[in-house]
Amino acid sequence: MSTVFSHAIVPVSLGLALGRNIISTRVLLVGILFAILPDLDVIGFAHGIAYHSPWGHRGFTHSIVFAICCGWVAVCCFKLPQNRSVPVFLFLSFSMISHALLDAMTFGGLGVGIGWPFTDQRFFFSWRPLPVSPIGIERFFNYWGMYVIKKEVVRIWLPLLGVFGFIWIARYAVKASRIRRYVRVWSRLTARRKPITIRPINR
Ligand SMILES: [Zn+2]
Repeated sequence: MSTVFSHAIVPVSLGLALGRNIISTRVLLVGILFAILPDLDVIGFAHGIAYHSPWGHRGFTHSIVFAICCGWVAVCCFKLPQNRSVPVFLFLSFSMISHALLDAMTFGGLGVGIGWPFTDQRFFFSWRPLPVSPIGIERFFNYWGMYVIKKEVVRIWLPLLGVFGFIWIARYAVKASRIRRYVRVWSRLTARRKPITIRPINR
């Protein structure tokens, strides 16, 4: 798995890029939770569930079907107006799927069961630039944990912030041009309101 920070940075940057009109703070917090949630399957180790099992680590909780189901349940709980349901559903489902996509870019452990329940096969991307994060807090704060964070900052955080920062700037540029257009139209409308003058008729 990647670190929890890198899993969380995906919904954070995407949510900020889309803006609070679409992704409210509450939805953003659920998105962060969804991006981290799939790794709760590590509790399976304590209960004797094998790593390679569909119910084991990187199994069904890392699948597209599981992410879609969680996104749908969350949208039903939020009781959103219809025009916001679809973007929020896509945002939450993508936040969870992004977890499996990042895991599939790591070079360690088994692949992710992204195709469950249709296949139990585990998948990796052919390009895997990310080291695996250590499991457990005490193991995290050592040389390997710091090495993983450094790699993730360069290979995940900065590219993501670049892409979503560009979207954010583009969105505000469009908004600013719209405001300028409204100001122009308003000034034209008000310019037509000339005072009525009464001139005497010369006969
Ligand atoms: Zn994971």
